[in-house]
Amino acid sequence: MAFLDRIASAFLLSEIRSGMALTLRYMFKPKVTINYPFEKGPLSPRFRGEHVLRRYANGEERCIACKLCEAICPAQAITIEAAPRADGSRRTTRYDLDLTKCIFCGLCQEACPVDAIVEGPNFEYATETREEMMYDKAHLLANGDRWETEIAMRLEIEAPYR
Ligand code: SF4
Ligand code: SF4
Repeated sequence: MAFLDRIASAFLLSEIRSGMALTLRYMFKPKVTINYPFEKGPLSPRFRGEHVLRRYANGEERCIACKLCEAICPAQAITIEAAPRADGSRRTTRYDLDLTKCIFCGLCQEACPVDAIVEGPNFEYATETREEMMYDKAHLLANGDRWETEIAMRLEIEAPYR
């Protein structure tokens, strides 16, 4: 009986017809793919992308060189050196982040008391060399300047859950 069923199915092209019906059905459904990089999908406010160092609105850097991020980083990706300024405030003289070591755990961001180091929404930072993944303070601050609006919005959304 099963043999006769297979013969009948082959002659009636039932598999091809059901495949064509499926194709026809999906032709009229909304597309699930997007035309990246011209279109981008939604991103969670908790997405952990490229790191930034943020400033206050007056341009002063937020980081107070407490080194909590350096201490908590499980990958030992952060290196900080600090010194007091002429006005007595303490600031970093060196803030290096080795993105090739980073595991994007977000602990540096959680540990920071002033929301200075943050993992922003940027995921398009692929490079051709390892050296380009070694971020220094100037690079991180420039990232912060570039992404501040989005990051401030994300932190505000997340504030009730922190
Ligand atoms: S995200 Fe995690 S691994 Fe990466 S620098 Fe921060 S603490 Fe270190
Ligand atoms: S980024 Fe935050 S946690 Fe790290 S040294 Fe600066 S103030 Fe401290």
